[in-house]
Amino acid sequence: MRIEQSVINEIKDKTDILDIVSEYVKLEKRGRNYIGLCPFHDEKTPSFTVSEDKQICHCFGCKKGGNVFQFTQEIRGVSFVEAVKELGERVNIKVDVGESGAQNQIASDDLMMIKMHELMEDYYHYILMKTVEGEEALNYLKSRGFTEELLNERKIGYAPDSSHFCHDFLQKKGYDIELAYEAGLLSRNEENFSYYDRFRDRIMFPLNNAQGRTVGYSGRTYKNQEPKYLNSPETPIFQKRKLLYNIDRARRTIRQKNELILLEGFMDVIKADQAGVKQVVASMGTQISQEHTSFIRKLTSNVTLLFDGDFAGQEATLKTGQSLLQEGMNVFVVQMPSKMDPDEYITKYGQEAFKNYLDHERKAFVLYKVNLHKDEIEHNDMAYEKYLKEITDDISLMQSGILQKKVLQDVSELFKVSFDSLINEVAMHSPQTPQNYSSQGTNFSTKPKQYTKKEDAERKLLKHFMFNKDVFLEFNEELEAEDFTNSQFQSIFNILHDYYAENDHYDLSTALLYSNQEGDREALISLENLLLNRNPYEHEVQDYLNIITENRNDETPESLNEKLREAARIGDLELQKYYLEKIILINKNRMK
Ligand SMILES: [Zn+2]
Repeated sequence: MRIEQSVINEIKDKTDILDIVSEYVKLEKRGRNYIGLCPFHDEKTPSFTVSEDKQICHCFGCKKGGNVFQFTQEIRGVSFVEAVKELGERVNIKVDVGESGAQNQIASDDLMMIKMHELMEDYYHYILMKTVEGEEALNYLKSRGFTEELLNERKIGYAPDSSHFCHDFLQKKGYDIELAYEAGLLSRNEENFSYYDRFRDRIMFPLNNAQGRTVGYSGRTYKNQEPKYLNSPETPIFQKRKLLYNIDRARRTIRQKNELILLEGFMDVIKADQAGVKQVVASMGTQISQEHTSFIRKLTSNVTLLFDGDFAGQEATLKTGQSLLQEGMNVFVVQMPSKMDPDEYITKYGQEAFKNYLDHERKAFVLYKVNLHKDEIEHNDMAYEKYLKEITDDISLMQSGILQKKVLQDVSELFKVSFDSLINEVAMHSPQTPQNYSSQGTNFSTKPKQYTKKEDAERKLLKHFMFNKDVFLEFNEELEAEDFTNSQFQSIFNILHDYYAENDHYDLSTALLYSNQEGDREALISLENLLLNRNPYEHEVQDYLNIITENRNDETPESLNEKLREAARIGDLELQKYYLEKIILINKNRMK
């Protein structure tokens, strides 16, 4: 399936790569470019660069990136055609990719598992909304404040009380039952190896990955069965340490508000989102993991914890807050009134009251922690010492100088020490600063590549070809791709041929469309950063050509002399003349 180049160009022109990348990466302006943490590899110092002028992005660490289509392909894990289609939808350009386009995707096991989940999602939803079997569950949900609109929006469903509902449906549709078991939709009887439905008589909440694909379920009982929530098991597509519930929907708001609110359970997320607080996510019943943190860090460095008001919620707040603080995040806490969770609060006081509450109750994590131990600090001298040490450590981890100062002020009162001595204490405790975090896991070399004289000539020649089509037209026939030592330069030379056959002016983001090889793209981008005089000096281009073609077919003056002697030995005059001319030409070029 081929999409018209003009359609691709139109979409590209109407799309700003900054908008697209910003949904995934927190960007800061640095000079002419924007820079942020790479969404493709784990890093603590930003190496992902976006150029607004050139409409490209590039990671200096893992080398991924490209134009807006290539970025979309990579980050969404879709084909080129799908990426064009998706970006087209954003700017209201319909791209007809036909059936073949969608089917072109690799039918990997992972994708099959996702398809099964999405197929069941529709079916479960239908059972809940439209059938007698789902009626009781539907009434229960409505009594819990789920409107029809919300049920449709979240595709909430109902798995009937049957051990073969999902099993039979998937089998009828021709899916591999073994794979459905691996996907966590079915369970297996280990005595006779028969398969049966994992989810029976449960309200089904689909769980999406960051790309918005359904990869698991949380099945809630409405009849006080155990467990209250039955989740999908760990599978290749559903991993709790990676999944953040609602991140696919919340991402944009998180970027806009530069804040992520972490809730304890996905039910709270649904309710808070419905109340208009959109930057909310929850982990699926696990501690916040390294993977979660490095994902969050790419969107924002401000995380607010909004856990339940009970003791367990308190403990979770302390643990999660501490680990996020250690990871260099700005951590805030909204403390719910005791024994209340956000869902209950909204039900009792309404959506507006909830939003107001959030706006008025955001405390720096360190202050939350101090307040929690206030009594001990005031009355137990042993605890006083312990917490003074702990809190000064925590303060030294804080990223915002302004907040640090505020917290110091508050804390100095509580600990009854002067502000200045507390500052000294903090400076003494100051452990590693997050800026000094080692960039483990990123063992790529950041040293600039060293080029040979010939490679240098090749780069500069290609750069002049890019600056000016006329230069290309004048000289390109003197060269063949094979003359380039570097295979990526060979590709670029070929790309330029194709490119200038259709375009008059070189433009990187369009040129990137002419190759799907990562190496080529990388080389194109690296050439873009090569600084060079825009107009060639006299003889400059010819000089490069000479250097590049000097050793054509490995013909060094020495080897040619060898051949000349051989021709003389056998008395071939034609051949002698041929080699002699070559030697003269090489020597002439060398004199220049
Ligand atoms: Zn990277």
